[in-house]
Amino acid sequence: MIRLVRRKDGLEVEPSTSIANIQPIRCLLPMPDASTEGRTPGGVFVARHDSRGLVISDPHAPCRSCSRCTDGLSEACLQRRCPGRGMDEGGLAERQLCAEELLIDVPADVDPDVAIWSSEAATALGAMRSVVPGDRPYVSVVGDSAAAILAGELGSQRDSRFRLLCQRDSTLKEAERRGIRVRLLSDVGQHGDQDVLVLLDGALEVPSLLPLLRPRGRLVLARPPRVSVDFSTLYRQQLTVVPSAASSVRSGFDAFMKGVLRADGLAERVLALEEVGQWWQKPRARTLVRIGATL
Ligand SMILES: [Zn+2]
Repeated sequence: MIRLVRRKDGLEVEPSTSIANIQPIRCLLPMPDASTEGRTPGGVFVARHDSRGLVISDPHAPCRSCSRCTDGLSEACLQRRCPGRGMDEGGLAERQLCAEELLIDVPADVDPDVAIWSSEAATALGAMRSVVPGDRPYVSVVGDSAAAILAGELGSQRDSRFRLLCQRDSTLKEAERRGIRVRLLSDVGQHGDQDVLVLLDGALEVPSLLPLLRPRGRLVLARPPRVSVDFSTLYRQQLTVVPSAASSVRSGFDAFMKGVLRADGLAERVLALEEVGQWWQKPRARTLVRIGATL
């Protein structure tokens, strides 16, 4: 039984902890900068819990006790917890100890390859709630995350002018397979003709995307960008920046169960736990890790 622990720039293989309550079976590989030294990274996972059965992790669990949480704005909680950060272990392990409150129960017969994308679906649903249908016709979702593809799918169900802009060929192919209008960012001219840009990828740099927006356009931030925008540009072009609405992990899970969204084809690459180390520093998107004997 092994676990992968972040040490400096890499991942080291160590024996699993002897005190454990879960067996992770699927994990979405986080970006290398998204985890804490000395911990097992991987904020999003599906696991078998020793007594609760099948569970999915909540990647942003609010504390439910601070003033923001008790005022009903748990999205703004400053004490949010995430498996794989702070004191909580993530999912890149064969056995692991995880705080009970960071786990959400799901029915035992659910396909783990579907459930693993629930938080990505929740992000997509939240982002699309921030785009009011009909008010602005030219909307682009930007990114290579699963959330970007899923938001692209929700958008194209609403309006045929809606499109997805991405950087990776694998995203292009999957979007085309789903019937989403899609373009590579490198092929799109900076025409300044988009009314709304919805950013669904933390690897994006916002300043290079602003020329896509028309004056008085709107930027919806569903994932915090790597390089953020300079206020003078926003001011000159009279742009509006809005945060994405929050949606619960369970709402994302329900969207798959009801068939509103589809989980097949979202993984760009599927790895076994032993292969994760060599991919840790490489450019990648939508990397699914299958753990344990239940492959
Ligand atoms: Zn709180």
